Amino acid sequence: MPSSNKKRKNNQSLEDRVQAELEKLIVTCPKCKKVYTGKEAFEHLYICPECGKYMPIGAKERLVMLLDEGSFRPWYEDVLTGNPLDTADYEEKIQSIQKKSGCSEAVTIGRGKIAGYETVIGVCDPNFMMGSMGQAMGERITRAFEKATRLKLPVILFCCSGGARMQEGIISLMQMEKTSAAVKLHSDAGLFYCSVLTDPTMGGVTASFSTLADVILAEPQARIGFAGPRVIQQTIGTVLPQGFQTAEFQMEHGFVDRLVERKNLRNELHYLLYAHRGPNKSRLRLRTGVPVLKHQLDPESVELMNRHDKTPWDKVKMCRSGERATATDYIIRIFKDFREMHGDRYFGDDRALVGGIAFLGETPVTIIADLRGKSFEERVRRNFGMPKPEGYRKAIRLMKQAEKFRRPVISFINTSGAFCGIDAEERGQGQAIAQSIMEMSMLKTPTLSILIGEGGSGGALATAVGNEVWMLEHSTYAILSPEGYSAILWKTEGKAEEAAAVMKITAQDLAELGVIDRIIPEFGGATEVTAQKISNVMSQAITDMLKKYEHMTGDEIMADRYARFRKF
Ligand SMILES: [Zn+2]
Repeated sequence: MPSSNKKRKNNQSLEDRVQAELEKLIVTCPKCKKVYTGKEAFEHLYICPECGKYMPIGAKERLVMLLDEGSFRPWYEDVLTGNPLDTADYEEKIQSIQKKSGCSEAVTIGRGKIAGYETVIGVCDPNFMMGSMGQAMGERITRAFEKATRLKLPVILFCCSGGARMQEGIISLMQMEKTSAAVKLHSDAGLFYCSVLTDPTMGGVTASFSTLADVILAEPQARIGFAGPRVIQQTIGTVLPQGFQTAEFQMEHGFVDRLVERKNLRNELHYLLYAHRGPNKSRLRLRTGVPVLKHQLDPESVELMNRHDKTPWDKVKMCRSGERATATDYIIRIFKDFREMHGDRYFGDDRALVGGIAFLGETPVTIIADLRGKSFEERVRRNFGMPKPEGYRKAIRLMKQAEKFRRPVISFINTSGAFCGIDAEERGQGQAIAQSIMEMSMLKTPTLSILIGEGGSGGALATAVGNEVWMLEHSTYAILSPEGYSAILWKTEGKAEEAAAVMKITAQDLAELGVIDRIIPEFGGATEVTAQKISNVMSQAITDMLKKYEHMTGDEIMADRYARFRKF
């Protein structure tokens, strides 16, 4: 036990509850398989005395190890998992996990003290669906950041997650946007946020709140990455280097500030809270009184929403077809004088995600677009439309530039996903996506995102934080490919068509869920033949949309966007 634990008194329920649970607990070391009683494991901080392995720790035990005794006050225990997509058997599964884990959700969050310093603290629980992020977890974290901003308190988050929660599909992706935006408001108020990455921190959580902290700590040997190692290995067919995606690897590549042994964590956090103590001036407050535009579907979108002449799988195939019109087809027809700007100023120029300046009528705008190419040569050159971190960092650079000069940002989204590979992870794919979401969410200039083909997961989301988000009639927007969904939930890639049917990935489904604001007609299917007609509709719609924001201040535009994503 660390010496600082000795001072604690024993009169609080959290500590008592943990003690009672430890009595019944048997812990097996995942590495050497030695078996311990709960009390033994806890006394050794869940580090195997035999082989030194860091074993997973439940949220409540972690809080008891870290906090001054009796100081923890849980928040939002009543925010519970719903079933937004009506996934079969999901509610029963959650109930059984709640019973087994003794936790109501995958994150336990509240207010507590470390060595006398007040902090908001949250801990993800590896025993609760691998700490995966669904709506309830996103809501608890968002509310905690909002409340911390009002109370002017720092936030510490212990992250551990398999990623976004499959069963909640696109709604769990929305949590990435929601939490990232709340982190930014907290940050803009001059408040301190520290995340601690524990084993494993993957997927949607690395691509949102966990990597947006002022200081990122990690436990030694923790697995940290965006795409899972098995997925990367299968995708590129190469053996991964020794130590790939460990905390040590991430530190070497610049994404972790410090590795901290478990026994030193309380001291480390004490130091950081001390170093960041003192009054903070809030530069930007969460303004709930700001007039927010009503986002309502126009009559044409409503009509398109109710048109079901193609199955979701038909649409998936249409989007993947070589005939599908690309962003270039629209950009040249809608805008004048597009000038591409290159480079992220950190590493390189990504041809899968391009950007630049153009004119809509007389109005200068910044355009960001996924490009997947048409000929085989172009597809290779554009990495099949799968951006790498330098693509997202270029997008961020150009969006910030747009804000400086008050240009609206219009993004065209068409990617099967962010690139899955070693170099992308080495350069921080998750962090780059997270940063893009956060910066875009806070731009003080209007943003419009248009999904024109495939919208694949975080890679699409990175540039999809629009004041309005539109979709072409037959485009798709999903948490992962139907093949991937089928493989993960049903252990076979063969049921992709069935998966597409239940995933709610079509413009029609997403308009109904309120994820998008407009459906653009395709006149039978978006190809080079129909591109002019589609461009005419888009051109008029974009002009009308930007008019709505003409007389709003930068803060109001930002608040409008914040409210749009806050509702998820
Ligand atoms: Zn062991």
